[in-house]
Amino acid sequence: MPSPSVVQVALPVPLPGCFDYRLPPGVAAPARGCRVEVPFGRRTLVGLVHDHQPSELKQLKTVKQVLDDEPVIDPALYALCERAARYYHHPLGEVLNFVLPALLRQGQPARAGGEVRWRLTDRGRHVDPERLARAPRQRQALELLGEHPRGLTPAMLEALSVSRPALQALRDKVWVERVEVAEAPPPEVDEVRAEPALRANAEQRAAIEAIIAAEGFQPFLLDGVTGSGKTEVYLQAMAPVLAAGKQVLVLVPEIGLTPQTLRRFRQRFAVPVTVLHSGLTDRERLDAWVAARDGHARILIGTRSAVFTPLARPGLIIVDEAHDASLKQQDGFRYHARDLATWRAQQLAVPVVHGSATPALETLQLARDGRYHWLRLRQRAGGAGAPPIELLDARDTPPDQPLLPTALKAITETLARGEQALVFLNRRGFAPVILCRDCGWQDECPRCDSLMTWHRSEHQLRCHHCGHQHRVPQRCGHCGSTNLTDAGAGTEKLESLLAEHCDAPVVRIDRDTTRRKGSLDAKLAQIQKGEPAVLVGTQMLAKGHHFPRLSLAVIMNMDAGFLSADFRGPEQAAQLLLQVAGRSGRQDRPGRVLMQSRHGDHNLVRLAAAGDYHALADTLLEERRGAGLPPFGHLALLRCEAMTMEQAMGFLEECTAQLPQVAGAHVLGPVPAPMEKRAGRYRAQLLVQSASRPALHGLLDALMPLARSLPSGRRCRWHLDVDPIDLL
Ligand code: ADP
Ligand code: ZN
Ligand code: ZN
Repeated sequence: MPSPSVVQVALPVPLPGCFDYRLPPGVAAPARGCRVEVPFGRRTLVGLVHDHQPSELKQLKTVKQVLDDEPVIDPALYALCERAARYYHHPLGEVLNFVLPALLRQGQPARAGGEVRWRLTDRGRHVDPERLARAPRQRQALELLGEHPRGLTPAMLEALSVSRPALQALRDKVWVERVEVAEAPPPEVDEVRAEPALRANAEQRAAIEAIIAAEGFQPFLLDGVTGSGKTEVYLQAMAPVLAAGKQVLVLVPEIGLTPQTLRRFRQRFAVPVTVLHSGLTDRERLDAWVAARDGHARILIGTRSAVFTPLARPGLIIVDEAHDASLKQQDGFRYHARDLATWRAQQLAVPVVHGSATPALETLQLARDGRYHWLRLRQRAGGAGAPPIELLDARDTPPDQPLLPTALKAITETLARGEQALVFLNRRGFAPVILCRDCGWQDECPRCDSLMTWHRSEHQLRCHHCGHQHRVPQRCGHCGSTNLTDAGAGTEKLESLLAEHCDAPVVRIDRDTTRRKGSLDAKLAQIQKGEPAVLVGTQMLAKGHHFPRLSLAVIMNMDAGFLSADFRGPEQAAQLLLQVAGRSGRQDRPGRVLMQSRHGDHNLVRLAAAGDYHALADTLLEERRGAGLPPFGHLALLRCEAMTMEQAMGFLEECTAQLPQVAGAHVLGPVPAPMEKRAGRYRAQLLVQSASRPALHGLLDALMPLARSLPSGRRCRWHLDVDPIDLL
């Protein structure tokens, strides 16, 4: 007699490894990637079968239920999850759970929802409505359903004023039933293109041809200045893939998922475009997942987690704005969708295109080393040259007028010509600090090492790190003086200053003014109309938008990034600067870009202002090479948060003390984090650095079990971040 099978189940718990369960007698072992329901402590959890083997173990608990005949996570996707779990040192069960749509996590069947319809049962069809003479509402419902043999949706029933209780009564008699009908898959189209392509210029053509010619896995860096027509390259490279019946996965940054972007894909192609974003309901998300898995969804556009979408017939992966920080998840399972996109393409044997005007230094180095095929677009598609960035010396700006007279004058002139101007300031609120004129006290967040930002229209001070808010103080918190003032400027202050000076609408775009659903779209639509206006905003303005009538960009206060202690500061500042500058003058006329800076003589500021991202990147890459920083060295950060700094440091010190030596890997710290206190917790960190990935992972393989086993780790919160982008 064969021994009963034991299955190893990956469960959504913060522990590495799988858990063993016995299968009920007579139940065949499910394949890897099928869901099972199992008892875990006092709970019942849904997990995924990882493996199975015969076993004589008697003590095991039994699987309660096998939920799938077919894996919900196909072998290729499963392998990606395993690789990611190993690389990020994150429990496999949690990775798999992260990847599953919520309804599948809850044990729902892995199929599309279909449409709900009410219709007559066989018995109902033979009922004489006269029998319901004393129940006129039921009679009406029965007659109506009799006239619609395919049934009626809840919306139709409501439009026909059919009463719910009457329907329910009929259902109790089993005369009507509620069914879910699967929606028919969309018909295959003969011609995938719905509108003609633009005439590609020579550089675009070379890029498109290279991507189309790729066989199997090939990574590309599409390195093209803003407005060079990268999207047109994607669209033309996609066409033959779609025509061959295959699917294209497109990853975009969080705020790049604008209606404008979607429209360009939907307009060009006649095939279904499916959007994956955080605003979907659980049902919509599962339906999109199923449509992708079954191959009905042909173009999938989504933010970082879309990299885990199952694909029946993958043909091409595109990562748009591939430098964007939102591709890295900053909590829980801290993966980088940019890197996973490349792994995924490798596994699926399809090309992957990383597009950016300001590629991450990591990606640029891969292209320089010849590991990514480097495609360059040096000119703007419309013909207008990239705008030069004029540096304005901001050392003497008065506090009450943060915009320099030159900048203000340029704005009024732009408006007078009937055009639009943009003022970029990456700080929301009215003023970043409230202070005492008598003693210099500044209002700080009680829970963080940070200042409170004044939001004037809301009569509040807010901490942008933890969300703490309090009312505007009447008196100094130190000396009691009422002589308080604000300093510095945020977008809210700029908006009101500009409204005083300009004879045109001022449109502010930041997280405060776009919180309501649809408000961002409404503001963008107003700008699209093209009437004279001034836009004021944060980095929300920097990405993916086309403002055809915008001919001036004023950039304020980006010095901090260039001078930042964080080694990624200058790279990120340069990316943001050039993305914003790229908004100006996008059609056939050159735009003007002014940058206010207090450090115009700083080498990096000068290089960035010269608009030559590659020259700046060369300088930064040389610095990184010298310091053994990414992409030349590899980093992982173990961060700990606790109620006291002693606790946080104590845990990390114990880790370092007991950690074995690993040749080629170094441990730096522990040290208090640059931001020592956040949201009421003290933060400390340990940096692991190595020139070799295997050495880094070797050390992390020793560090993680050690950290999990230390009792001091249970008194604090800690996590590991592999390839961290935020070291603060
Ligand atoms: P990027 O993504 O590189 O910033 P886009 O793809 O958004 O650039 O293109 C910028 C503008 O140039 C768009 O309005 C686009 O329609 C236009 N464009 C792109 N390629 C061409 C082309 N070959 N001929 C004419 N216009 C083009
Ligand atoms: Zn004071
Ligand atoms: Zn705070």
